[in-house]
Amino acid sequence: MAQDADSSGDEMNSYQDLSFETKAIHAGQEFEKWSHSEVVPPIVTTMTFAQEDPTIISLLSTAHTYGRFGNPTRSTLEKCIAALDNTNYALTFTSGCAAIHALLHLLKSGDHIVSSNEQFGPDAVLEDFCKATGVEVDFVDSTVLKQIEDAIKPNTKMIWIMTPSNPRLRYSDVASIAKIAHSHPNIILAVDNTFLTPYFLRALDLGADIVMYSLTKYLNGHNDVMGGALTFLSEELYKKVKYYQAAFGIALSPFDCYLTNRGLKTLALRMQKHSDNGIAIARYLQSHPMVSKVMHPVLPSHPDHELAMTQCSGYSSIVSFEIKGTLKEAKKFVQSLQIIQSCGSLGSYASFAMLPIAQLFSGKEAWYKLGVHENLIRFSAGLENADDLIKDMEQSFDKTYQ
Ligand SMILES: *Cc1c(COP(=O)(O)O)cnc(C)c1O
Repeated sequence: MAQDADSSGDEMNSYQDLSFETKAIHAGQEFEKWSHSEVVPPIVTTMTFAQEDPTIISLLSTAHTYGRFGNPTRSTLEKCIAALDNTNYALTFTSGCAAIHALLHLLKSGDHIVSSNEQFGPDAVLEDFCKATGVEVDFVDSTVLKQIEDAIKPNTKMIWIMTPSNPRLRYSDVASIAKIAHSHPNIILAVDNTFLTPYFLRALDLGADIVMYSLTKYLNGHNDVMGGALTFLSEELYKKVKYYQAAFGIALSPFDCYLTNRGLKTLALRMQKHSDNGIAIARYLQSHPMVSKVMHPVLPSHPDHELAMTQCSGYSSIVSFEIKGTLKEAKKFVQSLQIIQSCGSLGSYASFAMLPIAQLFSGKEAWYKLGVHENLIRFSAGLENADDLIKDMEQSFDKTYQ
């Protein structure tokens, strides 16, 4: 019988001194907790558990009682993710958006959020949530500290940032924003760290209270799970959100937990290669005559070149760039790619390209104001050989401008 408790308590402390790669492989994976000493954590599909004491069943119980409240495969994954962010507290959800949704329930009608204005996708979740619940939200350019400070009101309860932003890859200064948040008694800082992953940015260590991940992207990395995660500095916030995870029934399924836990074993290796491939593509595109602008923080021309180097230990594999021409050329370019797939996701072992602005139904004006147009292509480098990716782009440029 699996006696494993959920991801609270002090067990993780034994991993604190280990390096990232070692934690990704061993944290939460203790074979002693399984009845057959399994080295690979089993996929425990049972949705209910026989109880020795029938009087104890609680959403916050650490013993397993019912699938929505806790599952051994899930707590294995949650312990591993928590360790990667140097904490004891993590929760996993059915998607990144489900994780954001659970997190937002920390707020109530009349509370106020200051949010990054460049998120692409998740910001719509936030806006809808606020409309429905009476939570106020102001969107600001979170790369400018003064804009955050000026937006704070007496009822502000949360600062919510995504760094780097999507699709321009603008970096917010997590450490400085954490200081601003904590100079007020009741403001928590929550950071969407999907792009950099805990391998390149340790946002809790920099002072964030909650970190959010779309597991759908790099953390699982194999394009076969939709999932989300939150990590927490404090047990108090973790317990509050754990209640929502259980009450709303939005915890990640055992099979998806198994796959993600397996994906984490190679996260460090994958992120190094992702980062290297992104850099190679950024440098290639920068010297290409048909490219008018490349957005990648490794380039000295990027406005957050310094911050990205000092606050993070590497880069995501995302490169946004504008090609010469209009939507017509951008579309032709993406359609002419052969190895690189035209897909609306990122962080996979396979390379993807997409047209973020062209895909929008509404709200394009806001992007035009930021200087972003339909000729912007967002590229996510996979783990292929960089020379093959460059050759693919080369033949696609030839076809586009022939
Ligand atoms: C994909 C993504 C999300 C949403 O995650 P889902 O798993 O698709 O719900 C949130 N933030 C970022 C940065 C993302 O890339």
